[in-house]
Amino acid sequence: MLPKSQLTNSELLRYSRQILLPEWDMDAQLKLANARVLMIGAGGLGNPAAQILVRAGLGFLRLVDFDSIEESNLQRQFLFQSSDVGLPKVEVAVRELQKINPWTTLEAVDLKIDVDHLPELLADIDLVLDGSDNFATRDMINQACVQANVPLLSAAAIGLEGQIAFFQPEQGCYRCLFGNGLNDDTRQCAESGVLASTTAVIASLQAHHALLYLGLGQAPLANRLLVWNGITMQQRVLKFAKDHSCPICSRPVS
Ligand SMILES: [Zn+2]
Repeated sequence: MLPKSQLTNSELLRYSRQILLPEWDMDAQLKLANARVLMIGAGGLGNPAAQILVRAGLGFLRLVDFDSIEESNLQRQFLFQSSDVGLPKVEVAVRELQKINPWTTLEAVDLKIDVDHLPELLADIDLVLDGSDNFATRDMINQACVQANVPLLSAAAIGLEGQIAFFQPEQGCYRCLFGNGLNDDTRQCAESGVLASTTAVIASLQAHHALLYLGLGQAPLANRLLVWNGITMQQRVLKFAKDHSCPICSRPVS
C-alpha cells in the first residue's frame, strides 16, 4: 500500500487539537497515519494503550491475544462491557476500536504467540508494544524483536506499580536489562491483584512514548527504565547500557 501523503477533511478535524501543537504538526500526524504497530496483549495495558493510539490517528494496529473476556477483566480493561464476557478479547477490542476511529486499519490475531509465529507478526511492523503479563513471554518477544530489527516498547504493571523501557535495535535489549529472569518478580495480576488505575497510568505512558517515537522520532526512554510507584506517585528513570556479553543481542566475538 502506498504511504498516505495527505489527510481527509474529516481526519484533519478529528486530529485538530494535536495538529495545533507546536510540538506535533501535520508532518507528525502523517507519520502516525503511516505507522504500523504490533500490540501484544489486549488486557489491562493493551486496552488503554490501543485506544489512545487509535484515537490519536495510528494508521495500522495488529492486536494479538488468545484470552477470552472474564468478568474480573472489566475493572480495568476499558474496551469491554459486561455483555462481552466470554467473547475473544481481540475480536471485541477491534470491534470497539473500529467504532472509535474508522481511519485506522485494525487486525485481530486470536493467538497465543510463540517463536514460530512472531517473525510473521513482526514482518511489516515499525514498533512493538508489549503488554503481556509474564517474563517468559516478554523475553520471547524481545528475542524476536532483536532478530527482526524492530524497536520494542515494553511495559509491565502490577498492584500499584509499573515500569516501561524502550529497546532500539543494536542498542541493548530486554535481556541486557533484566538478565535471564531467574530473579524475576513472577507475580501476576490473577494472584497479586492490580488497582484499576495502575494499568491505565502505565498504558498511557507507553502510548505517549509510542506517539513521541512514531510521530516525532523521539525516544526519551531509549536505554532507560521508567519505574512508577503508585503509592508515592513518584517515578524514577534509570539508565541501562547494552550488555556486550548478552546472548540475545550481542554477537559472539570470533
Ligand atoms: Zn541484549
